[in-house]
Amino acid sequence: MGDVATAARLTPQRSAKKSMQDIGHMQALIAHTVRSLLTKQPRPFGASIVHSKSGKPLLRALNNTMAAFDPTAHAETRAIRLATKRLKKLSLAGYTLYSTCEPCPMCMSAALWAGLDRLVYGATIEDANRHFNQIQIPAVEVAARSDMRCVVDGPLLRDECYALFTHPNTLRAIRRWSSRKRK
Ligand SMILES: [Zn+2]
Repeated sequence: MGDVATAARLTPQRSAKKSMQDIGHMQALIAHTVRSLLTKQPRPFGASIVHSKSGKPLLRALNNTMAAFDPTAHAETRAIRLATKRLKKLSLAGYTLYSTCEPCPMCMSAALWAGLDRLVYGATIEDANRHFNQIQIPAVEVAARSDMRCVVDGPLLRDECYALFTHPNTLRAIRRWSSRKRK
């Protein structure tokens, strides 16, 4: 699986530049996502799509499953759908997806079908699994079994991203959601 890590293949200089950019994009995404924690619908899952070469952000999305009554409205899948619609293109080649959490197999598959260059994630599926049900297939494994190519990088700023899940407002909302489920 080591061959999928970008860092190893890049020259140290390029890698350092890229990781500085990645940190900046991830910090911006965390700042965007954390704002939702102060609303009535805290959503710790955020995703953004950025032009890989220029670093220009295209758009961001949060998980919207509850409000949309859509179990597939995960942040990454939403961002991909919004991006292809905005660009009026089926392919997101040339773009990178950032996500506060490692994508589930559905979202990683969507990233592959969309032809995204690269994925950078924060917290891991294992981290999210402490609070939410997950499908236990790492994103890197979904990518490795695909005919399409998408570089998977992460975890990046894992602690900062995981803090979105352990924020008191998120934990309160999780308790609310689970009591709702029992009714
Ligand atoms: Zn997902």
